[in-house]
Amino acid sequence: MSATVLHDEIVPARAPWTQTLYAGQTLRIVDLEGNQAVDFLVYAADDDAERYDAQATIAAQGNLFLRTGSILRSNEGRSMMTVAATNVDYHDTIGGACSCESNTLRYGHHTKSQHACVENFLVGNARFGRGKRDMVSNINWFMNVPVEPDGTLGIVDGISAPGLFVDLKAEMDLVVVVSNCPQINNPCNGFNPTPVRMIVTGP
Ligand SMILES: [Zn+2]
Repeated sequence: MSATVLHDEIVPARAPWTQTLYAGQTLRIVDLEGNQAVDFLVYAADDDAERYDAQATIAAQGNLFLRTGSILRSNEGRSMMTVAATNVDYHDTIGGACSCESNTLRYGHHTKSQHACVENFLVGNARFGRGKRDMVSNINWFMNVPVEPDGTLGIVDGISAPGLFVDLKAEMDLVVVVSNCPQINNPCNGFNPTPVRMIVTGP
């Protein structure tokens, strides 16, 4: 069985990206140059009140990290997407999205004018009439947020590398909203945001 390529696009460094996916289609995200965090939200196409839910996802699988076989769950507990394959050890569910506000708090006022994931999510969501209240805790593909035995989180050097990927199979009709993370103040993008490639295939 061969899959047809329906869409193939390079998302520039720091840019937002949105795509409608129909049930059965697969989105491959390729970390072209390595260690590039891809912040990710997903909404049901029919009714966007149904959306990705980190807590439901984590609780259902009993694990904080996303790996091959993980199921992305909605706030209704339904399967939205399945991680069909990935050659990165694990992906982050808890690090959240960077914002101008969090940057100034963490890294100083001089970062206030730097572009951040929250702006990308707002731009991506605006096309669908969604605003800030529609932003929920997001996934960070390719980002390394280890959890220490005492519960301490880190944002440390990535575990991804050039050409590594994640394949996400849509289990319902969906809209995905991505921020190709612009962060330059911590190692989540190796201090150098880079492009990623998006490939949609379908039967
Ligand atoms: Zn970011």
